[in-house]
Amino acid sequence: MTKRNPQYASPADAERLAQDWTKAQLSCRLYGHIWQPLRATFHQTYRYFSTVQRCPRCKSERHTELNERGHVVSTSIHYADGYLAERVGRIVGDSKDALRLVALHRVYNLEAVTDPDARARSRAGRELSEGAA
Ligand SMILES: [Zn+2]
Repeated sequence: MTKRNPQYASPADAERLAQDWTKAQLSCRLYGHIWQPLRATFHQTYRYFSTVQRCPRCKSERHTELNERGHVVSTSIHYADGYLAERVGRIVGDSKDALRLVALHRVYNLEAVTDPDARARSRAGRELSEGAA
């Protein structure tokens, strides 16, 4: 059995977690959030700005504080409920691959086609041909 670093999720963990995520949460995990400006505030007493951006897809918010020169002093993300339901570590490498496979069915409307020319056009098709030779 392969020993895994607990800071990283296994492909099986990633696949299991993805079953509980909404389509929006799965999309944001794979493709990143779509931050949209929501509001900006100037705090007169302590002389700093704060901004809030919201992801319309998963409803998470990014809070940023800037000093009077516009330098970012702190950033934090407030995740929508369910986004961080369970901590299993970072999802990278083969675990991210597992998420992409889940997304094919959950995020996309996956369609199977028969296309004899696709092998020559796509890198995945060429690699399959070379492996078969
Ligand atoms: Zn998002």
